[in-house]
Amino acid sequence: MIIRRSKQEIDRIADASKIVGEVIQHLKDIVEPGMTTQYIANVAEKMIIKRGGVPAFLGYRGFPGSICTSINYEVVHGIPKVQRLKEGEILKIDIGVRLKDYCSDAASTVKIGKVSHEAERLMAVTEESLYKGIEKAVENNRLYDISAAVQLCVEKHGFSVVRDYTGHGIGQEIHEDPQIPNFGKQGKGPRLKSGMVFCIEPMVNAGGHKTEVLHDGWTVITADRSLSAHFEHTIVVTDNGPMILTG
Ligand code: MG
Repeated sequence: MIIRRSKQEIDRIADASKIVGEVIQHLKDIVEPGMTTQYIANVAEKMIIKRGGVPAFLGYRGFPGSICTSINYEVVHGIPKVQRLKEGEILKIDIGVRLKDYCSDAASTVKIGKVSHEAERLMAVTEESLYKGIEKAVENNRLYDISAAVQLCVEKHGFSVVRDYTGHGIGQEIHEDPQIPNFGKQGKGPRLKSGMVFCIEPMVNAGGHKTEVLHDGWTVITADRSLSAHFEHTIVVTDNGPMILTG
């Protein structure tokens, strides 16, 4: 059962999403070699709190950071640290905000200085696959139309979609039903209706799809240590097609 949100609820998710969008944009603008991910998380946390929100990942199932910061072959759920970012790395920033009982969630991958051609291509394809998925979030489509569109885009370019983690519904909780895999069969899954709010989030590996979790109990890495990229938006299905709330 996928919840269809009222206009009022969507407005509140949109308010939380506005904060997420602003924070991600600011972080993209300031990130540079030599900066620590802990500093980046502190900046994000201050911005979120100043706007009346709460960092939704902090303490979520015991997560110790206010945002997730994952570098290179780290896929998602990386913990902010004092280690400095180096030229040529790619950093995934994933931000959740709770504002007056409603949540929003988005992620982006940013380049630290100049990165390899492969990293550029991986990032471009991952972002493209996000928009291919979002395009399918249309009334009366099926949920896995989104999944299939992401997978097709990624695999066409020779990369692989992570299968162990998925997109999700969002509302009063940061993770709600349904799970939205980044692979699946077109024409399958529940029918989409206006008012449904989703986080679509392709996690794409340059190598194989398999992942492992580091000893910190959180950081997901690619099993073959290949590079990974991640882009995510919170979107709502409307009568006039998908609308991105975290843009
Ligand atoms: Mg998410």
